[in-house]
Amino acid sequence: MGYVFLMLGYLLASVSFIVGLKMLSHPDTAKRGNRLAAAGMTIAIVVTIFLYEDNGERLGNYGWIFGALFIGAVIGWIAARKVQMTAMPEMVSLFNGMGGACAALISMIEFNHLVHETFLPHLPLSEETLSGTIGQVPMTQVLVIMLGLVIGTVSFAGSMIAWGKLNGRVNDFSFRGLQLVNILLLSVILAFSTYLIVRFSTDSAAPGIFENAQTAANSFTLLFYLILVLAILYGVFFVLPIGGADMPVVISLLNSFTGVAAACGGFLYNNKAMLTGGILVGAAGTLLTILMCRAMNRSLKNVLLGSFGASAKSGSRSSEQGSFKEITLSDAGMMMAYAERVMIVPGYGLAVAQAQHICHELEKLLTQRGVEVAYAIHPVAGRMPGHMNVLLAEADVSYEKLLELEEANQLLPRTDVVLVLGANDVVNPAAKTDPASPIYGMPILDVEQARQVIVNKRSMKPGYAGIENPLFFGTKTSMLFGDAKKVLQELVATIKEI
Ligand code: NDP
Repeated sequence: MGYVFLMLGYLLASVSFIVGLKMLSHPDTAKRGNRLAAAGMTIAIVVTIFLYEDNGERLGNYGWIFGALFIGAVIGWIAARKVQMTAMPEMVSLFNGMGGACAALISMIEFNHLVHETFLPHLPLSEETLSGTIGQVPMTQVLVIMLGLVIGTVSFAGSMIAWGKLNGRVNDFSFRGLQLVNILLLSVILAFSTYLIVRFSTDSAAPGIFENAQTAANSFTLLFYLILVLAILYGVFFVLPIGGADMPVVISLLNSFTGVAAACGGFLYNNKAMLTGGILVGAAGTLLTILMCRAMNRSLKNVLLGSFGASAKSGSRSSEQGSFKEITLSDAGMMMAYAERVMIVPGYGLAVAQAQHICHELEKLLTQRGVEVAYAIHPVAGRMPGHMNVLLAEADVSYEKLLELEEANQLLPRTDVVLVLGANDVVNPAAKTDPASPIYGMPILDVEQARQVIVNKRSMKPGYAGIENPLFFGTKTSMLFGDAKKVLQELVATIKEI
């Protein structure tokens, strides 16, 4: 009976993961989708703790289990409540690393069990047992353990480096031949793992294996931990040279690795919920990686080997491109108040300034005056996928007002005023005109097609890609310097007086 409820629990959890994931694709349903999937995960955990049986025995150890659950839940809750929206990719990376580490730990524990069950069942062995075998360990079982170990460890080590890079604790680091070292490391990991999988399975079936049981157990264990160390090194060297601006893409890729590693755990324990969850994370992470690369018009190979952001940040910045003109608050207010159509382009700076609420207020004020207002959302604006959508949804901006890149670009030639709020790279025309630019080929918002462009930022400093923006020196462009929140507050006050 317990087994039936266990399976029912897993079925319920799996369905909630799938439906929850689907609901995440629209801002109106995203929060509920998240809660639904979390409820499914709670069901999966509870039925596993109370109904899962191994050889007729329940898990037990409830003190340890609930103690760990409590500590983990408190840390997760506090971290999620305290995190700034702009630090979200960091937190995702950290939590993803923990997922990878869990998958690797499962493999370590299960390998240890397997070694003991196979080679050291109950030493010292009787004469009878010594002459026989205990039956062959299937290669697939060792394969799944090794996959969980290698993929989980790479994901853990890589995510920790990504986390360190995003919060500035780890710098980009590369040396000549690093790619070669990585290829070598990966080849050695593959060769050692294949050897271990095949030898473990064949030795477990070899007659008389128990005579050298302890030696066999020791050498397999040694090789296993050697592979673990090599996987840590590979994870670190894989992420270290990748440029800072590419970190979200790498995190999404590592996220998919963790999903696959968790699915391996699902295979090992014949746990359907873990399997479904792992596969969903693996597939969603892979798709997200592809979509982010597409939005930047770059191949994954280019992201992993190109060091975008790193070279531009540390190296040359193109020289000043001439003079720019500034606009006063009252002129900017006047221009927008008497426009027919205004397009707001939000970027990373808007998130830093936490200016989404006052931005929504400006939009309402202009709309009341009969101005048609819309937001142009670039797919990689901000620092994580959907960053601007989440930010504006937080301020109750209607989803209908958010235009995607192509839609916005069609409307821009018929727009009177564009207000760029803390965006830079996503409106940089060099992406279209300068083949030497690190962002060349990335689709951008063609704001210079509008009649007037007002750019709000604090200085002439570059954005994340570290390059200058010719838009700021264009004849139609006027700079409105200052912190986005403060400038918007003053702009709203100015327009109210018109
Ligand atoms: P950028 O990083 O290009 O520019 C942000 C601008 O905001 C800066 O130039 C900065 O200028 C300004 N700024 C910072 N703080 C404030 C403030 N308080 N008030 C006003 N302005 C401020 O941002 P974009 O959104 O245009 O582009 C995103 C970048 O991130 C792209 O390069 C993209 O490829 C990259 N990226 C994004 C991913 C995603 O998923 N969203 C994934 C991978 C990469 P100043 O200091 O002068 O104020």
